[in-house]
Amino acid sequence: MILVLSKGIASHDREMIRIYLQDRGFSIREQQLGNEAIIGATGKGPVDLRELGLLPGVERVAATSKPYELVSRETHPEDTIVTVGPVKIGGSRISLIAGPCAVESKAQIMETAALVRESGAVMLRGGAYKPRTSPYAFQGLGMKGLEYMKAAGEAYGMPIVTEVVSPELALQMKDLTDMFQIGARNMQNFELLKKVGSLGKPVLLKRGPSATIEEWLLSAEYLLASGTQDVVLCERGIRTFETYTRNTLDISAIPVVKGLSHLPVIVDPSHAVGIRAKVSPVALAAIAAGADGLTVEVHPRPDEALSDGPQSLYPEQFERLLRDIEALAPVVGKELLRTPRLDSSCVTLGKAAQGKPLEGALKVAFSGESGAYAEQALIRAFGEEAPRVSVSSFRAVFDAVLDGSAGAGVVPVENSLAGSIHENYDLFLRYPDIGIVGELKLRILHCLIAEEGTTLESIRIVRSHPQGFAQCRDFLNHYPQWQLETYTNTASAVASIVREKAVPGALARVAAIAGEAAAKEFGLKVLKSGIETNPLNYTRFVIISRRIGDKAPVPSSLGSDTPNKASLVFSVPDKPGSLFACLHILSEKGINLSKLESRPIQGQPWRYLFYVDVNIPDTEGVFEAAIAALKTKTEDFRFLGSYRASL
Ligand code: PEP
Ligand code: MN
Repeated sequence: MILVLSKGIASHDREMIRIYLQDRGFSIREQQLGNEAIIGATGKGPVDLRELGLLPGVERVAATSKPYELVSRETHPEDTIVTVGPVKIGGSRISLIAGPCAVESKAQIMETAALVRESGAVMLRGGAYKPRTSPYAFQGLGMKGLEYMKAAGEAYGMPIVTEVVSPELALQMKDLTDMFQIGARNMQNFELLKKVGSLGKPVLLKRGPSATIEEWLLSAEYLLASGTQDVVLCERGIRTFETYTRNTLDISAIPVVKGLSHLPVIVDPSHAVGIRAKVSPVALAAIAAGADGLTVEVHPRPDEALSDGPQSLYPEQFERLLRDIEALAPVVGKELLRTPRLDSSCVTLGKAAQGKPLEGALKVAFSGESGAYAEQALIRAFGEEAPRVSVSSFRAVFDAVLDGSAGAGVVPVENSLAGSIHENYDLFLRYPDIGIVGELKLRILHCLIAEEGTTLESIRIVRSHPQGFAQCRDFLNHYPQWQLETYTNTASAVASIVREKAVPGALARVAAIAGEAAAKEFGLKVLKSGIETNPLNYTRFVIISRRIGDKAPVPSSLGSDTPNKASLVFSVPDKPGSLFACLHILSEKGINLSKLESRPIQGQPWRYLFYVDVNIPDTEGVFEAAIAALKTKTEDFRFLGSYRASL
């Protein structure tokens, strides 16, 4: 329990509070955190918090079983998202910080910035003041180095993070850096913490090599108590008896700290391991354990590095690591954050589509209630804060994009267990002005959700989208007595339970199949999670936008990478070999077909349209030539869009 005392509290009131707590069996510790005087009380004495709050001189009381309050999840259950310029750290994204150990020259930091940005880092790291174990080792370029770094960050559109080693330097560095790093050796330099915290800038707080988790969180408490809101915790290995690696990465600290605190946790695999070849495997393990990001040392020529060369990755190794993280991210329900382009083509999209600025241009439409899987997909593609419009059907998503009330939309097209969502394939035909600009695969983990107190035995009715039932077929087969009721989406099945609260007794009998986010959104309980027939359950969503001419503009947050996948629809003449002729064109040009699906043409019984996904080859002109050839062999031909394939 923590008591924050009123400013200017009388010493006699302070004494009364001490006596009050000690009489009730609490041991107390008094401290000054920033501007606030605090009494931390531990014990199990009988005490009414409201009564405590009324004692003269008590500003507020927080019931916490921990010695820290501001960093604790008990007092702030939601994840904190730390913002550093355009970059967000925490929530459903994985953010990569990369750069050299030390800034060595303007050319070196510029070259590194270009390389790591190209691979997908969103922030640039680098030390201008280096706390080196030996006084004879390179100590950094100081303020000059920081100026070079700022220039590199600006040139490549990345905010920068650099270590501050003393309270005096903090003030000088304030306007040059976007984020301060407090190094492992300074984690308990409380004067430094207080000074840096008071500057209100984001802070990356490394864990001390011998610090316990509690000590680390108390250091973060110093920062928050001194005024900053934005603290990212960084596990960078602790000292153990093992000497093979530089330090020992405390991987279990990641889920532990994420449970104890709402602050984002990232990992520094470079200082943890200290051996280049071992950095990437450990980095992947950190992501698998739930880290919100990484800070990695990368050098264009590690052999020439003035500090920490042996642990710095070659640029190609960093590139490979990012690709691996991209593949791993969906397994842990996250998305790798990419640096958005600096221009906002989303705004341009809205303007161009309607000839006037649109309020809806920046909104993204999805079908379903809050907590729907489509909303999760949207968050992964556009970020947690993306303005969104929820509509009641897939068709309404297409309508919203067409009439400009949304700049883009997210709709599911297929599931790895239950197959295609034909309704959306058919909608592309009805809406020729809508194109595909992106795709995303979301891991679907279904839960059985009901009111608190409901048991599996008491359930009579289960509600979900037909896909929810199809993907949980094996689980449902164990309960043949359950009556299944179909809803337009999984989240509205959950919402229906809450909305029927008025009917007494009815609720204990109803459950829904949906994602955990929907249970959270509507305050219901997850009775059983992971009930899908196979854990390799992914839904592929596509991002749609309105075409201008024959191109659909790509919202800026999807990045500007060259498309490597395309979707087409066509019908072929009703004669032998006509489909073969089309496939032959693809085969001849070496174009890989990743999906082929046929759908009946409405009003023309026994005639079919073919939906085709292909990979776009790197060689320029090959794909365009194949499309031109296909047009000569098909009847109706529609190019749905080209985009970056999601792994
Ligand atoms: C660094 O990140 O450059 C550094 C010195 O790390 P640590 O403080 O974790 O040793
Ligand atoms: Mn280093």
